[in-house]
Amino acid sequence: MNYQNRNYGIANPGYIPAAQGAPAMFATPGAEGPSAPPASMFDSMPGYEGTVAGGGGGFLPPPMPAFPAPQPDPAPQQPHWNIPSITEDTARDAFILFASSKCCYSKAPAKDGVITNMEAFNTYRYRLETFTETRSTEWSHEPYNGQTVDAFAQPPPGPWDIPAKSPSFFLDGKETVKVPYTSSMKPCHVCLGMGRKPCKDCAGAGNKVCWVCNGSGYRHGDDRCHHCVGRGRENCSRCHGQGSKQCDTCHGKQQLLVYIKLTVKWTNNSDNYVVEQLSGLQVDNLSKVSGKELFRDSQYMVYPLMGFPDPAVVSASQRLVNEHQAKYSQTSRILQQRQTIELIPVTKVTYLWKEKSHIYFVYGNEFKVSADNYPATCCCTVM
Ligand SMILES: [Zn+2]
Ligand SMILES: [Zn+2]
Ligand SMILES: [Zn+2]
Repeated sequence: MNYQNRNYGIANPGYIPAAQGAPAMFATPGAEGPSAPPASMFDSMPGYEGTVAGGGGGFLPPPMPAFPAPQPDPAPQQPHWNIPSITEDTARDAFILFASSKCCYSKAPAKDGVITNMEAFNTYRYRLETFTETRSTEWSHEPYNGQTVDAFAQPPPGPWDIPAKSPSFFLDGKETVKVPYTSSMKPCHVCLGMGRKPCKDCAGAGNKVCWVCNGSGYRHGDDRCHHCVGRGRENCSRCHGQGSKQCDTCHGKQQLLVYIKLTVKWTNNSDNYVVEQLSGLQVDNLSKVSGKELFRDSQYMVYPLMGFPDPAVVSASQRLVNEHQAKYSQTSRILQQRQTIELIPVTKVTYLWKEKSHIYFVYGNEFKVSADNYPATCCCTVM
């Protein structure tokens, strides 16, 4: 990879940080608590000058590619598909299954209701997925166990030049990497290189006032305290009488390996658009079911749909493709996009039960049922 723009720091005037307001490169290390290492522990690394410790690190905008981005191919023409309507038997079976899944619904209306009408409200779902890679860096440290110390052996590679193996497209993932040539050995800032810290329970004394005799050494007048054998003090159980504990930060090693940690994250960002059919079925229901896939187009950057028969789907595609490219190309690298259209079967069934007309919906490949006003439920209705 050969990118011309190797400038990842504040000096990049073209970089507009994401909506948070402040440039993310300078994420404040506020959440770290009192054991935060002092800034003096971090060397100045060329290309990583703004890196802070902890807090997840600042996001790094991807460099401008030195070569023009490949132009997306126009989407292939889609064949026209139709899905056959479901039969009365399928509608009734789905309804009976629905009624029996509710603990106190009577199955009678589902079994004995007479279907008088079935109407198809099949609907399109357009989905755009944008698979992105983001990179962020922060100073990090770990106990020193003889790891390689390589700071300043040569300039570190830029954060976007470090190889990282992306998972399969459209699968979320994360990887952390030590940035080469940034590792150095420093005395532990928490224990000041001692490897141990004074015990808080006994203030470093190793023993404390005996809780049985409260320090007097005696109980009930002249009886010697058995717990402390008259000493008035007992060993501190927290530090086993040593007065100090191993340092949690360096695990007693006294030294830390300090390095810049690169976090690479892969995220599948997905947005859906479902065409409203005014069937009476809540559109939310459709998020739980699948449909028949009519169209799939996957490439580095997709081109908005053209020529699809439903204009609402075409304009949703234009809107979402523009939104995704504006939203994700600033702060991440787009690796792949995918757009799909599914046709979700929705059937509105009208039936008679005790001389009254009722409706229910059967939808999705899964034949899910929605029946808001089921006529035979008891008082303990479950939703
Ligand atoms: Zn005692
Ligand atoms: Zn102690
Ligand atoms: Zn330490």
